[in-house]
Amino acid sequence: MEISPPLSVHDVTFDTVADVIVVGMGAAGACAAIEAHEAGANVLVIERTSGGGGSSAMAGGYVYFGGGTRVQKANGFDDTPQEMFKFIMAVTPEPNEKKIRLYCDDSVAHFDWMERQGVPFNDRFFPGKDPEHPTDETLSWTGNEDCWPFNQVAKPVPRGHKIGVNGAAAYAMMNALIATVQRIGIRVEFDSAVNALVVDDDGRIVGVRYRQFDAVKYAQARKGVVLTTGGYVWNEALIAKYTPAMALEGINPHGAPTSDGAGHLLGLSVGGVFMNMQAAMISIPIYAPESRIRGILVNKFGKRFINEDTYHGRATAFAMDQPDMVAYLICDMPSFGEQNGYEALIDAWETVAEMERDLGIPEGALQETLRTYNENAARGEDPEFHKGKKYLVPQVEPPFAAVNITLGPVRAQGLTQGGLTTTENAEVVDAAGKPIPGLYAAGATASNIAKDSRGYASGFMIGESTYFGRRAGAHAAGR
Ligand SMILES: Cc1cc2nc3c(=O)[nH]c(=O)nc-3n(C[C@H](O)[C@H](O)[C@H](O)COP(=O)(O)OP(=O)(O)OC[C@H]3O[C@@H](n4cnc5c(N)ncnc54)[C@H](O)[C@@H]3O)c2cc1C
Repeated sequence: MEISPPLSVHDVTFDTVADVIVVGMGAAGACAAIEAHEAGANVLVIERTSGGGGSSAMAGGYVYFGGGTRVQKANGFDDTPQEMFKFIMAVTPEPNEKKIRLYCDDSVAHFDWMERQGVPFNDRFFPGKDPEHPTDETLSWTGNEDCWPFNQVAKPVPRGHKIGVNGAAAYAMMNALIATVQRIGIRVEFDSAVNALVVDDDGRIVGVRYRQFDAVKYAQARKGVVLTTGGYVWNEALIAKYTPAMALEGINPHGAPTSDGAGHLLGLSVGGVFMNMQAAMISIPIYAPESRIRGILVNKFGKRFINEDTYHGRATAFAMDQPDMVAYLICDMPSFGEQNGYEALIDAWETVAEMERDLGIPEGALQETLRTYNENAARGEDPEFHKGKKYLVPQVEPPFAAVNITLGPVRAQGLTQGGLTTTENAEVVDAAGKPIPGLYAAGATASNIAKDSRGYASGFMIGESTYFGRRAGAHAAGR
């Protein structure tokens, strides 16, 4: 959608007024609105669609909590905010220490707050490894906590907290959050797209312009405007300019159609600056079934390049770094297990020599890689890549399968992660690092914790959307 330059307060007549205006009602917006309301503010949410939910309602439903949540304790996992902090600091490129510290220290309280809003979690644990487990257990491993090298840095514990329903689950979180917004009486204008900010003579953001069907309306914000319009996966111009990886052939943009960067551009229009815009979470999962992790990932020269038990987004990032981005998962029959319906199985061969020839891998290279891997695996070792012991199983039972992990021929899911630069209180800052008075951003509109595929853990994005959404709402309300 078209975003206009800021309007002077002298050129508009406001149709309505609130203390805090929240633009967009996905996870970040709903949490910002609830928190601002709880802080005593009069809140108006302006939402472009007829019901809200955004990408948040489409999501798998992992939220990254830790530090000793009730669910972790119920399953015997001993976690602390400090271990969580060490882990997130280690996986995050250019980490913002202050934000990560707050996120970890407040995680247990944030989990409890989400439950109080009616978001359903249970006390059960899913022990396997699945990019999105189909059942409803809340706790599961969703990142690199138990994988080398990060298991050397912080005590490995699971921190993915799935919303407790079967299948893609985050819709149930959004149902609960939106129900709370409605129950506590927060005003929401649906079918209303904000397309400009209103500024006073001191540069303070004092309102918004929005289109509601054919009408153009103006809303005044006495205390602040919170931008929570989601990511920009559907904005071709922003993708082309900032996120070249997302423009590669084979990337399947993941996100609601409203993820077109409206909030990013609104922030930019008043002097906000972007951060981490090159980053995207791109993934071609090699599992489920979990047994495939016993296989090996190789490039077109038959060489391994990563411990295969690593998070699927991290494995994909390393695969994309290989010559011509060509990568295959090679495994034997028992490890291949059931077809999952998504994988790009190339074929299966009785011998590795035949497979190697048909894949165009230099003669002997894959055979040598597999021989070395098998010898080490038989001793429970992986000296080169340090894959976890439980996955070190020699690949010896034909036929041998090759699954394509090459971006282009194989489609990958991709999300944007960059956004407006903000303080730990979600204030949007300008190029000098100074907060723009009255302007906040959170969720996929801002850059907070999730920084790329290599360090990503499922749950970071909803985790930061809900947490920093709350901080935005509280600060805008003057708490
Ligand atoms: C299929 C899928 C699975 C995912 N799984 C996970 C997961 O398991 N865990 C995880 O952490 N992350 C996951 N993600 C990522 C995560 O869902 C998003 O990063 C996060 O939900 C973003 O939340 P948000 O509130 O910032 O934006 P959104 O949820 O997209 O909400 C933005 C809202 O703003 C509204 N809006 C947009 N423009 C305007 C405008 N101009 N005026 C008014 N309103 C506007 C939209 O209509 C929308 O309601 C997944 C994403 C997808 C697509």
